[in-house]
Amino acid sequence: MMVWAGSTLLAFRMSAIQKEGSVIKRGKPEGPIRWTTLGNAPFPKPDEPCSGYLLQAGGANVLVDIGGGSLAALQHYIRLEDLHAVWISHLHADHFSDMPLLYYAFAFSEKPLRKIPVLAPVGWAQRVEAFVKSSVDHKMKSFFQVIELKDRGIAEIGDLRIQARVVEHGVPAFGLAARFGDRRLAYTGDSGPCDTLVSLGKGSRVLVAECFSREIEIPSVHLSPEDAGLTAAHAAVARLVLTHLGPGLEEDEAIERAGSAFNGAIEVAHPGMVIEV
Ligand SMILES: [Zn+2]
Ligand SMILES: [Zn+2]
Repeated sequence: MMVWAGSTLLAFRMSAIQKEGSVIKRGKPEGPIRWTTLGNAPFPKPDEPCSGYLLQAGGANVLVDIGGGSLAALQHYIRLEDLHAVWISHLHADHFSDMPLLYYAFAFSEKPLRKIPVLAPVGWAQRVEAFVKSSVDHKMKSFFQVIELKDRGIAEIGDLRIQARVVEHGVPAFGLAARFGDRRLAYTGDSGPCDTLVSLGKGSRVLVAECFSREIEIPSVHLSPEDAGLTAAHAAVARLVLTHLGPGLEEDEAIERAGSAFNGAIEVAHPGMVIEV
């Protein structure tokens, strides 16, 4: 594993053979990007975790967001020893609140787990440390490579590249563009409408867009269905996947309203939904 940082580039590479868990080989990127929705609810319900997605390509397994319930859901798909990185869009509880429990998983695992990078907005490690504080100090760096996201920072896990971009959410928050060979997928995280979302989506086949706002508010820290549709249209993606629907917003209504601004395919994400790009 290697880490380096530049003015606009923050990247790490994981291609080293690890003692435990799976190995990622670099080479010619072949195969799809797979995006599995673990959960996308604003608070956890039975079988409906909060925001969490499993991003996979070329043998790399990345957990994107780690809201309540998503850590358990993740383990329906992969073992924790096969997790290579965690990427967290922002520190709201519905995207972050299982992180202290991931720490417990690493700290108390019967079988030692290898150190993995956790990439999240500034201050994430201190927040989790404050949360898990007890009679002994718990340090995130004991089990994780602590990385704070920066605008345009790029993480490389094998041949999977993930670029972070700052989005509009009233707190430090990021969207991502994932690239594996010529395959691309973008995810808004939580954000109000902004040009950055359009540039994140440009060149991607699929845009996974939050759709939390039932009402159209200006300014807003979330997308309404119309905002999501317009963003997808401006980014010229083929497919729009609406996720993280807010209270009172029915799926049919969200699809119809997003479709007023976007001609491509539109779906709503559910736990267990798998997209291949
Ligand atoms: Zn949020
Ligand atoms: Zn949220």
